[in-house]
Amino acid sequence: MKYYNLKDSQEQVNFKTATIQGQGKRKGLFFPENIPQFDEKFIQNLSQYADEEITYECMKAFINDEIPSEVLRNIIAETVSFEIPLKKINDKISILELFHGPTLAFKDVGARFMSRCLSYFLKDQDKKVTVLVATSGDTGGAVADGFYDLPGIEVVILYPKNRVSPVQEKQLTTLGKNIYALEVNGSFDDCQSLVKQAFSNEEINSQLFLTSANSINIARWLPQQIYYLLALKQWLQSEEEPPVICVPSGNFGNICAGLLAHLRGLPTEHFIAACNSNDIIPQYFKTGNFIPKKALATLSNAMDVGDPSNFVRILELFNNEFDTLKNKVSAYTIDDQKTIHTITDVYEKHQYILDPHSAVAFASLEQYLKENPGKKGFILGTAHPVKFPEAVEKAVKTKIEIPASLNDLMKKEKKTIEINSDFEELRRFLLDKN
Ligand SMILES: *Cc1c(COP(=O)(O)O)cnc(C)c1O
Repeated sequence: MKYYNLKDSQEQVNFKTATIQGQGKRKGLFFPENIPQFDEKFIQNLSQYADEEITYECMKAFINDEIPSEVLRNIIAETVSFEIPLKKINDKISILELFHGPTLAFKDVGARFMSRCLSYFLKDQDKKVTVLVATSGDTGGAVADGFYDLPGIEVVILYPKNRVSPVQEKQLTTLGKNIYALEVNGSFDDCQSLVKQAFSNEEINSQLFLTSANSINIARWLPQQIYYLLALKQWLQSEEEPPVICVPSGNFGNICAGLLAHLRGLPTEHFIAACNSNDIIPQYFKTGNFIPKKALATLSNAMDVGDPSNFVRILELFNNEFDTLKNKVSAYTIDDQKTIHTITDVYEKHQYILDPHSAVAFASLEQYLKENPGKKGFILGTAHPVKFPEAVEKAVKTKIEIPASLNDLMKKEKKTIEINSDFEELRRFLLDKN
């Protein structure tokens, strides 16, 4: 399989190069040269396959022989090493709980898969890679954990001081070893801007091999398809009709992976992109105009994205045919007030505690099902509520327990390097570290 640059289809690379580089020239995203179809029998008999086998079937066409099959199977075993249950919330809406991984975030799957592929590709090189990420809280933990203690890789994470939750901060700052946490006196936007400056700084790039670990990277994007396969495996045990699938969306990597799985032959009824007040895509569906904006801060902060970078991949999947896309995908925008109200309501009616991101999805799916009676579906539960305690406790008016699995983490000591939102300080840190 080759991958071409969406900004310049002449640039074609293999899986390895796409994984190491992250993106192509002019910051173009890589895209597979064809959409490999699932074997029909495989889809019909999903329930008979183990999760690891499903993941292997899903991924092998994208990697071919670039990773030997026994190595790929090991990578997969470490990637899907936790349960991903589909649970009923009410008669019509279920939730695929993607937050049972090591950092309680759905990004664990993509981060673990990517980190291990990268580590495999770098094993025979003396080149050390520095993964540089800015996080509003959730991505950073999954990336830190995914790359922890992997040889040849260092991770530098920038996060905004005092603006991530206690669980998130511990996840970012207590690992040590090859993981460095920079606590920035500033906002998430400041962190992102510092990272961007580093990527375009000649001096830094001449001395360090920098790469990013965001969802633009195909090795993080593609494995997310398995959520949809594993969900369907469970869905078909009690349902006849394909599901409406609702995905809390920020950068649109996750839903784009779902749409890819669908176009490969996975039966689905419809997709919903659930957005918070950052409504660039809902506006696009209304007007046909894609107008990026500055991101607004909301309670579902992992979706505070003003220029969703994976959306170009969705357009490519649908050959830029707006009408075909609109037939398969709808988009909703849910504000903070409605998010809180939804968490309260679902807790009172069904004793289920949603985190703010999953709540945005629940409210969106509920609205769609009202407009389209007779259908059923599920939302993707992208984070554990304990990572967003302020919003959730306000909504359910009770303290949420930190799961026992986090007790050890919460006792660990935070280690950070504090910097100002000043590129010179980041530059000096990166060069001195080297
Ligand atoms: C990253 C994230 C999202 C958004 O996923 P995208 O692939 O960027 O659309 C949603 N919810 C949570 C909790 C996240 O961390």
